Amino acid sequence: MGAVSERIRAPKGTHDLLPPVSEKFAAVEDTARRVFGSFGYAEIRTPIFESTDLFARSVGDTTDIVHKEMYTFADRKGRSLTLRPENTAGVVRALVEKGIQEMPRPIRLWYAGPQFRYEQPQAGRYREFRQIGVELLGVAGPAGDAEVLTMLFQFLEELGFTDLLANINCIPKGEARKAFSRALQEHVRPSLDRLGAEDRRRVEQNPLRLFDSKDPEAQSVLRGAPSTLEFLDDVSRAHHEELKRLLSLARVRFFEDPSVVRGLDYYTLTVYEVASERLGAQNAILGGGRYDELVHQLGGPPTPATGFAIGEDRLVEAMLTDVRPKKTLFFVIPDSSADFVYALDVASRIRACDHDSIVEVDLQGRGIVKGLSRAGQIAQEPNRYAFRVERVHAVLVGEKEREAGDVTIKNLSTGDQQTFQRSELAGRLGAARD
Ligand code: AMP
Repeated sequence: MGAVSERIRAPKGTHDLLPPVSEKFAAVEDTARRVFGSFGYAEIRTPIFESTDLFARSVGDTTDIVHKEMYTFADRKGRSLTLRPENTAGVVRALVEKGIQEMPRPIRLWYAGPQFRYEQPQAGRYREFRQIGVELLGVAGPAGDAEVLTMLFQFLEELGFTDLLANINCIPKGEARKAFSRALQEHVRPSLDRLGAEDRRRVEQNPLRLFDSKDPEAQSVLRGAPSTLEFLDDVSRAHHEELKRLLSLARVRFFEDPSVVRGLDYYTLTVYEVASERLGAQNAILGGGRYDELVHQLGGPPTPATGFAIGEDRLVEAMLTDVRPKKTLFFVIPDSSADFVYALDVASRIRACDHDSIVEVDLQGRGIVKGLSRAGQIAQEPNRYAFRVERVHAVLVGEKEREAGDVTIKNLSTGDQQTFQRSELAGRLGAARD
C-alpha cells in the first residue's frame, strides 16, 4: 500500500480545466449558443454512454475509433456500453427513438460535451476531449451544407479566427463509392509490402480508411491515388459544384482537397476539415460533412443530414483572442468584522441594480487600508479572475458609513471617490454607466 499522503493523479489523457481556461471554454460555448441560436439551432443533450452497438453500426466497425479507441465496459447486468467517442450517432439515435418522422423539417440542433477515445495522448490529443457540434437533418440539397458552413465560419470569426480555410471534398456514394474503393485497392496493391499489417487490413476491408493512416509510408503509397472527385455520378457532382458556388457567394474560404475522407464511415458526399497552423501535429480543429444514410441505418426513415464537430480543446488552444467578457469589479471592503453584515447588504444592493458587474466582498478581514491596496493589485491583474477586469471600484464600508447608512465608492482608474446614501445606489450607478 502506498503512503497515506500519496497523491492521486488525473487519469492519463485527461486534463482538468481550471480558471481562467475553464472560463474560456464557457465563453466559447456561450458564443456557440448565441451564433447557432441566431440561425434557429437548439441545443440537444444525449447520454455520455450508449449501447456499444450504436457506434459499431454508425461510425463503422472497421474504423480506428470503433476498432481500437472505444471505452467499452459491461454494466452490472452485463450490457455492453461505450463512452461516446462522438455525438452524431447519439443525436440520431435520440431522434429516431423520439419519432423523427413526426418532427417538422428541417431539424436544427447543436450540442457541446465530452467525448472519449482511447488514443495515445500527445499535445492536442486527449482521451477525454470536448466537442461542439451541429446537426441539420431533413435537407438533401447543398443549401443545407452551405448553411452549416456559413454558420461555422461566423462562429469562428467571432472567436477571432479570420484566416481559416475549409478543406472540402465530395465522397461518392452507392455504386460510385464501390468503384472508387476498387480503384483505390488497385492503386495500392502493387505496394502492399510497404504497408504495415494494420494498413493491409484496411486495404482489404475498407480501403477509404487508408487515408486515416498515420504511417508516412502509407501516405506516400497514396500519392497519385485516384481522386474521389473522378468517381462522382452526375447528381453528386452537381451537388458538389452547387455547394462550391454557394460557399463562394457566402464568402466561406475553402479549398478543394480530394484527400479529405474523414475517419468515420457514415459520411456521404460533402466532407470537410478545418486545420490551424497555430497547433502542432494535431492541427485539425474540426471535421464535418453529410451523412445521408445514417438515420436509415439506425432504424429511422431515410433522412438526409449534414453537420460538423469542432474539437473544443484544440479550438481554445489555437485562440489568440480572449473572448471572456470584460467586467467592472466592485470590491467591497469592510473595515472590521463589525462592518461585515453591512458590507454584505451593500454588495447585494449593488448586484440588484447592476446585473452586469461582478461584486466581491473582501473576506480576508484586511481592513480598508490593506483592502484598498489589494483592490489596486486586482486592477493590475486583468487575467486573475474568471472574467477580464475592465475597471475596479473599491467600496469602502467603515464605521462612519455603517452608522450613517452611507457607501463610499472609489474608482481606481480615476481616483475619484464619492460618499452617498446607500438608498441612492441605483441612481448613482446608473449615472456612472451612462
Ligand atoms: P472527428 O469526430 O474524428 O471528426 O473529430 C472532430 C474534431 O474533434 C477533430 O478535428 C479534433 O479537433 C477533435 N478531436 C478528435 N479526436 C480528438 C482527441 N483525441 N483529442 C482532442 N481533440 C480531438
